[in-house]
Amino acid sequence: MKLKKQNLVGGFNRYRLVITLGLAVLLPAAALIYVNFNQLRMFERDKVLEAMIHRDFQGALAIDEKTMSQKTYSKVEDARDMFPSPDESAVAKERKLDNVLAQCSCFEHAFLFDEHGLILQTQPGQIDDKFVRDEHEYMADSYNTWFGSKDGKMEVESINKRPHHIIFSGGHAKRSDGPGYLLTAFFVLPDVSTDRVVIGGVTFDPCYLKSNFFPEMLAQFANEKTTDQGGNHIAMIIYPVDVPEGREIRPLSASDGWGDGKPEVMRKLDSFPGLAMGIKYQGVSVEALGAQWMHRSFLLLGILSLLAIGGLVLTKHMVSKEMAVARLKSDFVSNVSHELRTPLALIRLYAETLELGRITTREKKHQYYRIIRKESERLTALINNILDFSRIEAGHKEYEFRETDIADLVRNTLDSYRYQIEQQGFALEESIDSDLPAVRVDREAIARALVNLVNNALKYSQDEKYLGVKLYRDNGSVKLEVADHGIGIARRDQTKIFEKFYRAGDPLVHNTKGSGLGLSLVRHITEAHGGEIEVESTPGTGSKFIMSLPLVAAPPQVSNSNAVH
Ligand code: ADP
Repeated sequence: MKLKKQNLVGGFNRYRLVITLGLAVLLPAAALIYVNFNQLRMFERDKVLEAMIHRDFQGALAIDEKTMSQKTYSKVEDARDMFPSPDESAVAKERKLDNVLAQCSCFEHAFLFDEHGLILQTQPGQIDDKFVRDEHEYMADSYNTWFGSKDGKMEVESINKRPHHIIFSGGHAKRSDGPGYLLTAFFVLPDVSTDRVVIGGVTFDPCYLKSNFFPEMLAQFANEKTTDQGGNHIAMIIYPVDVPEGREIRPLSASDGWGDGKPEVMRKLDSFPGLAMGIKYQGVSVEALGAQWMHRSFLLLGILSLLAIGGLVLTKHMVSKEMAVARLKSDFVSNVSHELRTPLALIRLYAETLELGRITTREKKHQYYRIIRKESERLTALINNILDFSRIEAGHKEYEFRETDIADLVRNTLDSYRYQIEQQGFALEESIDSDLPAVRVDREAIARALVNLVNNALKYSQDEKYLGVKLYRDNGSVKLEVADHGIGIARRDQTKIFEKFYRAGDPLVHNTKGSGLGLSLVRHITEAHGGEIEVESTPGTGSKFIMSLPLVAAPPQVSNSNAVH
């Protein structure tokens, strides 16, 4: 009945533990993992990361274009400030235009068109170049015709509508070192009435753009961005947009590490008509980077999930263990009370009987005295165990190691039990090696360990009453064996019996009185001596406990943390 109730309580607690762990930990953890997993899948499906990087790239290109166009605007504005007025003489105009070219070698040509016609000046050092001369002639010809027609008026109007009153026009340039980009800025002069067709302009030197301006700008932009992009190196390019379908992009200028291939994101440049700027990561595509990131995130999520599951299992394990200890403790209290009550009742009963003087024969009296002594010895052993246990638990247990003739100690301890052993019908087989060297031990503790082992052998034997005690030297240690032919210990219990309060589930054990403390003390005592305790046992055949104590120097004093497990 009592057992049933305990099982019910135990079952209920376990049920509560499973519910608590399930609801409070497992469910939220599983939900979190599930949500994260789904989110990652969604990221993967919608290519969210790639889209984010592309958006970033777009933003960066817009800013870079602005920086670049501001530079060109300011160069053109500086030149415009030096421009002659349409009302000056032709010589003065030429001189001033030459001065513009002299001030900034970035310009190839400077020109002014007004009612008197077009004056077009070219960098004097370059006019001998065939390509430059052809270009000069072509410009002179076409601008004169173009601005002189009614288109000139329209051109002035559209220039006036543009920011800074400047219009850029792009085209191809031929040079001896290959094709280039020809950028011409058309503007109106600030102090000239908008009714007049007066158009000034400068053309950038294609070699300057290709070899200086664009490379410098691209290098600067790529460097700035590399730190923003988590250490991934950026490469940038400027190229003509009118690439025929299916043809490879031919860079006009590219930053270091561009390699080849297409940009991830491109932007047509308004202030450099006909050109586009592109951006990508060096050596890795955004798609590969996204896949890499996904892979890493899934892996991380997997590891975190495993850790969460591991943590949960560990928590369940620990809580179950604590619950088992709590259960064992409550068993212990009732076991100990039982153990105390029985010898006390017996002592009282026999003492009262003796006191009443009803026992007449000497032999009977002797038997009663013996029972009283035996029961009080049992009481003492139990109380000693409990006291030792509580000292160890509180970390106050101290051992006193002294050089000891261990054979003598074992023999003496057995002597005081010999009578009891034989009385109970046990065949005692002793094999004590007398040639053992002195060992440094705590005598009382070792005697107590031996008494516990012997008591267990007596308690847990049924039909075959045999007790074997052996002491011998084995290499660097002394071994003390206590064997019986008793009920034995199931394999699964063999490691647990050394835990505090643990008693095997065998009904034969539960019919025997005990507190579950004896073996945990034996283990503590052995370990405090730097030794170890083992058990060999077969259920139904018997058990053998082997305690090995090292022969080397005395072990250190046991620290407070060395509580009984
Ligand atoms: P107690 O004997 O007070 O229950 P112990 O710590 O001495 O506590 O022993 C723990 C358990 O180990 C016992 O309850 C019993 O199940 C098992 N045990 C110990 N010694 C023996 C033995 N010699 N034979 C069979 N079982 C044993």
